[in-house]
Amino acid sequence: MSEETQEVLPRRGAGTLGRGDVGRRVRLQAWVQRRRDHGGVLFLSLRDRSGIAQVVIHPDDLPDVARVLEPVRAEWVVEIVGEVVLRAPENVNREIATGEIEVSVERAAVLSRSEPLPFMLDGKAEISEETRLRYRYLDLRRPELQKNLLLRDRLTHEVRNYFHEQEFVDVETPILTRSTPEGARDYLVPSRVRRGSFYALPQSPQLFKQILMVAGFEKYIQIARCFRDEDLRADRQPEFTQVDLEMSFPTEEDVYALIEGLFARVFPLGGIEPPVPFPRMRYADAVARYGTDRPDLRFGLEIADLSERLEGSGFRAFQETVASGGVVRGFAVPGAAEASRKQVDGWSEIARRSGAAGVLTLRRKDGELTFQVKNALTPAELEGAAEDLGLEEGGLALIVAAKESVAAPALGTLRLELARAYGLIPEGKHAFLWVTEFPIFEWDEQEKRWFAMHHPFTSPDPRDLDRLESDPGSVRARAYDVVLDGLEMGGGSIRMHDPELQSRVFQVLGIGPEEAKARFGFFLDALRYGAPPHGGIALGLDRLAMVLAGASSLREVIAFPKTASATDLMTDAPSEVDPKQLRELGVQVVPEESK
Ligand code: ASP
Repeated sequence: MSEETQEVLPRRGAGTLGRGDVGRRVRLQAWVQRRRDHGGVLFLSLRDRSGIAQVVIHPDDLPDVARVLEPVRAEWVVEIVGEVVLRAPENVNREIATGEIEVSVERAAVLSRSEPLPFMLDGKAEISEETRLRYRYLDLRRPELQKNLLLRDRLTHEVRNYFHEQEFVDVETPILTRSTPEGARDYLVPSRVRRGSFYALPQSPQLFKQILMVAGFEKYIQIARCFRDEDLRADRQPEFTQVDLEMSFPTEEDVYALIEGLFARVFPLGGIEPPVPFPRMRYADAVARYGTDRPDLRFGLEIADLSERLEGSGFRAFQETVASGGVVRGFAVPGAAEASRKQVDGWSEIARRSGAAGVLTLRRKDGELTFQVKNALTPAELEGAAEDLGLEEGGLALIVAAKESVAAPALGTLRLELARAYGLIPEGKHAFLWVTEFPIFEWDEQEKRWFAMHHPFTSPDPRDLDRLESDPGSVRARAYDVVLDGLEMGGGSIRMHDPELQSRVFQVLGIGPEEAKARFGFFLDALRYGAPPHGGIALGLDRLAMVLAGASSLREVIAFPKTASATDLMTDAPSEVDPKQLRELGVQVVPEESK
């Protein structure tokens, strides 16, 4: 193609062409999505980031141009110059935005060839995710992924603009740093210059953002990369992005209002209008009524507590559970009275995975109440329980008797399972929620010690301070989570700014003065130099993008994600390294067998 043409005509996006361009000469540089040879006429669908347009070549009129384009196949990159023409009404393609027009090619050049593809990009064939991730650059050409990443770009911009308008300062914090305890395993990086020493990749910028408050920045924001070496569940990534922020002198209310404002701004990108303000629920209520600290409130199926009513019943299992401090709880599912034995067995299995013995059913059918264990409960007890459960004609209730830490998650999981099975989750409805008043500590049965439920910098509720040492389990935290449709979108807290209080909390966590000094000395020091009261929150940006895109996996909104085994299939990371590099680092690899 001549220099002259390139200068005269700026490059146009294929997807931007329309009726208004008819009669205009345009230049496209794009990928060949599809090639069709209609005996005498060659059609190419050309695709670039803006969309798709059809171009047409008449070999009879322009044999030279046709010869150039003849060998072209899917995903070759071509340049064409031609005139935009209106298609005949019968040839209009309603499936693409530019379907009313096509470009009649006058000149053409091949800019790049493509080998035959490992998979077609039209999304029609089932492609294994492994293949997609291995050839991620091809996968990313698909319109769905382009759309998701462009949406993510808009989201990131809105987030930055919003916080900029609210006078937050964007500060970068280090990636090579010390361990920050967020409850996961650290990724470690060996130091070459200080043999035997390691950096940890940040699980979050937690300590840095608090130190930025001590440093007087008042409002900090960062779109921050975080790293957690966890055994990955389906909706996690070992490296992920948080909208991380901290402010000085805030109350919980300030944080709630700030985040509600942000959500009002970004959720419309996904066609979602959040309510203002969001409803709130205390942690204890969330766990009792929904079996989880991130309840999905798009549907009912609320859990009722039957312990008091049934502790005196003649049914031993209930009696003994309550007598030993456990609970009897359940929920009713409308229209599920016909559930089969096999279904109930499946639900029992789910309950067993949480540690319960199984589930018991109570049905109301043809005006009659039937409990799974014949004659275990009196008619009055059955009626009372059914009333507590809100069990109506045609409904089925699932009941679990166990200690609370088992019954709650078992019922929480079942509640979701049955809501899905019976189609009770309304399409297009969304439920935002603040969960508040978390316990500050959580007891670990295995290690026989207290852990921080959020992280060890979260402030206890001043109302509970006198029980910090004597009854740590009863102390509430000034922590909060923001939940959407059963997903935790973010969490944060008001922190401790008093080094004495911070030391007391470390004590309860089994971190004595020596260890605290060794691990967090720099931070405790900082608190001694006029630390303002402060607090903040971090939101999962990947998850936000996923919800806004209506995607079902984080991998659909991350350009280069990792698999469940934390590998990058495209670059094949992690990989072995040169022995020389290991020698420099003083690192020796012990083979798996001889551990
Ligand atoms: N650093 C916390 C987290 O990553 C968030 C916070 O407390 O602000 O979950």
